[in-house]
Amino acid sequence: MKVFPHQKARAIKPGSRRPAKELCSDCGLCDTYYIHYVKEACAFLNQQIGELEEEHHGRSRNLNSEDERYFGVHQEMMAARKQEPIPGAQWTGIVSTIACEMLTAGIVEGVVCVQNTKEDRFAPMPVIARTPEEVLAAKVNKPTLSPNLSVLEQVAESGMKRLLVIGVGCQIQALRAVEQQLGLEKLYVLGTPCVDNVTRAGLQKFLETTSKSPDTVVHYEFMQDFRVHFKHEDGSIEKVPFFGLKTNQLKDVFAPSCMSCFDYVNGLADLVVGYMGAPFGWQWIVVRNDLGREMLDLVKDKLDTQAVMSKGDRQQAVQQSIPAYDKGVTLPLWAAKIMGVVIEKIGPKGLEYARFSIDSHFTRNYLYLKRNHPEKLDDHVPEYAKQIVGQYQLPD
Ligand SMILES: Cc1cc2nc3c(=O)[nH]c(=O)nc-3n(C[C@H](O)[C@H](O)[C@H](O)COP(=O)(O)OP(=O)(O)OC[C@H]3O[C@@H](n4cnc5c(N)ncnc54)[C@H](O)[C@@H]3O)c2cc1C
Repeated sequence: MKVFPHQKARAIKPGSRRPAKELCSDCGLCDTYYIHYVKEACAFLNQQIGELEEEHHGRSRNLNSEDERYFGVHQEMMAARKQEPIPGAQWTGIVSTIACEMLTAGIVEGVVCVQNTKEDRFAPMPVIARTPEEVLAAKVNKPTLSPNLSVLEQVAESGMKRLLVIGVGCQIQALRAVEQQLGLEKLYVLGTPCVDNVTRAGLQKFLETTSKSPDTVVHYEFMQDFRVHFKHEDGSIEKVPFFGLKTNQLKDVFAPSCMSCFDYVNGLADLVVGYMGAPFGWQWIVVRNDLGREMLDLVKDKLDTQAVMSKGDRQQAVQQSIPAYDKGVTLPLWAAKIMGVVIEKIGPKGLEYARFSIDSHFTRNYLYLKRNHPEKLDDHVPEYAKQIVGQYQLPD
């Protein structure tokens, strides 16, 4: 059996080495002997989205197309929802359904996904699921940094040859960089968009600062109606307008890695399932390549679908929110509620909402990087993100 150089590397004690230091997103690579490749693989030490897009999708994104500049290489986008949603899934459970179908059909032998620990519904516990039951036990977001790649050594040891990995952008960038070393015959990557992630302690602070009942939150999402929706144990939904968030207290809650991330839409996955480019209540699907299409085709008869739409104009709202966020302005709740209602009526919808969210986060992250890691600015920000940020006037 061929022994790869990384397999001769010393076993790493989880968490003992973090070459990206404070920018580490805890993707899990460094908990394995694949730490051997971290300098090239880590999304925060070596930004290489363009090169990896070319390798995996056959081309990098077309910067002359606004859709590709924002949403990455793709063959097709659509809005979709499961005809019979999975109870307790983050949205309608399209991600879990695809993973279950792939196992059942024998297309893959295992699925890298993230369950939670027994003690804490939000504490991530990455696993290689081998049955649909184990996949379903991983449904719903663990809204914390999650070391999904920490199970990669187990993949090699198991002798598995066909694998599906579910993950967010930073995990998938590192995975793509070591893909050839995994000894797999086939790798499928099902991604979700991701933004503003936090450590478990940061999550607690966010819940305590924002929700009326932090201990009973089972699930939350920053929704397209410009409100955070918290779902509680009793099924009730608490809605807090974005504009009423206590930004002054929350400024340091997001992980430095997420404040430095420009891969919101998971550009290197084969298929991406999120929500932000779809009308409220629907999921947003981005098919990047043929493997992504193969995955989507497996579940299409279980979905209602519709074409993506786009309405409104985000740019003024983004420009106005830049100094407001920067100064940590928080509106009184009554004003935030009115603002929320107005913006929901006249604000950006569909793909324009997705662009609103990308613009807001990229401008914020660009400023963060410029102030905290100016030496990284040039290499770390991909060209597409520089063009997006370049549409706005930023404070110093
Ligand atoms: C931290 C985070 C932030 C997100 N932010 C956005 C956003 O801003 N805009 C947007 O459009 N979509 C975002 N998403 C994706 C969206 O919330 C849903 O996860 C997606 O639409 C799939 O819903 P579903 O019902 O099909 O998933 P489900 O069937 O419930 O499955 C969820 C899957 O997510 C995986 N997962 C859970 N937590 C993590 C984690 N921390 N890291 C990696 N994988 C995880 C699980 O393994 C599971 O397979 C985010 C996802 C995460 C994890």
